[in-house]
Amino acid sequence: MKPIYHNLDFGITCIDTQYMRDDFVAAYLIEDGKRAAFVDTGCYLSVPTLLATLDKKNIKRKNVDYIILTHIHLDHAGGAGELIKHLPNAKVYVHEYGVNHLIDPSKLRTGVIQVYGELFFKQFLGDLIPIPKNRIIIAKDNDEISLGNRVLKFIDTPGHARHHVCIWDEKSHGIFSGDTLGVSYREFDTHQGELIFPPTTPIQFDPETWKNTIKQLMKLKPKYAYLTHFNRIEFTQDCANMLIQHIDGFVKIATILKNTPNRHKAIKTTLLDYLLEISTKHRVTLDKIQQIKLFKGDLEICAQGLGVWLDKNS
Ligand SMILES: [Zn+2]
Repeated sequence: MKPIYHNLDFGITCIDTQYMRDDFVAAYLIEDGKRAAFVDTGCYLSVPTLLATLDKKNIKRKNVDYIILTHIHLDHAGGAGELIKHLPNAKVYVHEYGVNHLIDPSKLRTGVIQVYGELFFKQFLGDLIPIPKNRIIIAKDNDEISLGNRVLKFIDTPGHARHHVCIWDEKSHGIFSGDTLGVSYREFDTHQGELIFPPTTPIQFDPETWKNTIKQLMKLKPKYAYLTHFNRIEFTQDCANMLIQHIDGFVKIATILKNTPNRHKAIKTTLLDYLLEISTKHRVTLDKIQQIKLFKGDLEICAQGLGVWLDKNS
């Protein structure tokens, strides 16, 4: 097992969990004063990569204090139950709304299998292992934990999901943002910077709450966002504005197509046109077929989430 990772500064490593494809889902490893923590884990199948990264960096498994989950969507948290079996001293930090799903992941499992089928579950997610209750700690808004010589602070960040927390790292002036500060693939970087858009994942997408969360996070004056999808970016006010603009853009598409027959397909097609248009404006030179390939997974999930939001608000 040869792990793929990117060494950042401030003792932070971006590990490619190799979920679905390369450069898609990150987990982060933070090292400080011989102690270590993971932020997000990828899925069950990502765990060998995470452990191989520890070995490669000569970090003892007993020195990992925390597995911090930004939220319980399976591409972020699906590996936590398997990972903790290998980390004798680690505790899992998660939003209070995520706790029960970690102790008993059967509902998550059933939900995924209902939407994507058993084959997808086995092939891409592998399995879901329950986490013993006594190893889980609720990550409350404003709570601080120490790791070596640094302090990590939890921030309750609803909008993408109600069970979402971000982690403020004072040392790097960075936010481990899960999905809250958007999705941004490095393939779309141009001289104009990063292309960022919102993952409007089912079933708790809430645009007004999300925009407010982004504004609150910007008050911290972050230098960096550590995105799960994918890697660290410098997160400026322009990035925040772009994300908010596209939350509005996605919502507008859903609202216009609300009563269209075959609504899901119509939203998906229009979202793709929208993304291709913003990437053209962003001067992305990657050919269209490659772009569509990279957007494909998000399109399906974003359209589903917008559909659920429409139904809730009708
Ligand atoms: Zn998510």
